[in-house]
Amino acid sequence: MFPDLVDFHCHLDLYPDLATAIKACDSRRTATLAVTTTPLAFTHNRKLADGSTFVRVALGLHPQLVGEREHELDLFRQLLPETRYVGEVGLDAGPRYYRSFEAQVRVFKTVLELCAAAGDKVLTVHSVRASKQVLDLIETILPSTRGKVVLHWFTGSLADVRRGLDLGCYFSVNEAMLRSPRGCRLLAEIPRDRILTETDGPFVERDGESIGPGDVRPVLETIASLRDLDRNELRAQIIRNLTVLLS
Ligand code: MN
Repeated sequence: MFPDLVDFHCHLDLYPDLATAIKACDSRRTATLAVTTTPLAFTHNRKLADGSTFVRVALGLHPQLVGEREHELDLFRQLLPETRYVGEVGLDAGPRYYRSFEAQVRVFKTVLELCAAAGDKVLTVHSVRASKQVLDLIETILPSTRGKVVLHWFTGSLADVRRGLDLGCYFSVNEAMLRSPRGCRLLAEIPRDRILTETDGPFVERDGESIGPGDVRPVLETIASLRDLDRNELRAQIIRNLTVLLS
């Protein structure tokens, strides 16, 4: 069955009920990448998403959790053959996580090496205050012939965006990102065939409440109006982008 929408980065297992969140994505016909933050969460997510038409589960080790969970890298290694999708992974050099930055680099390097060795993985990557380091590691370890990278909620410079594009990366854009002029300028730099949509639910809020799983219509509307595109044309473009990314 063909999806109507794409949510390429959503924490379905951080909503109150995972099964309900999966159903919401299926009933919205949203092709959803359910990211996980720790390898321990993967199997449960995978089991519940088993009968889903539109939800796929990614194996992750979130940079903000690496400080306490670096040892789960072994489990990550074991589980990697079970999925094509990897995330949430990456680097976070924000003040709260800077202490674990060296460990984060070790983990992210290993993740990229494992993906490069396996081939054909699709990654959703976090890069808070670490765009340059993330791009450096992707460039040296995971060329686009060995794996595909989607930069999620990217906040780097315009030059970083261009560099990501040169490396073959896609960008998944959420509605919180487009509430800032800076996010809008960044979007303007991305060609339409490299854009995906995401919710980053439940972290992203709308009117004080968590955005729903797979609820990407508002971000789609905003992108369409910023780019002066017809909404349905953009919707079709994003489905096409997903198809190309996964082909
Ligand atoms: Mn996230």
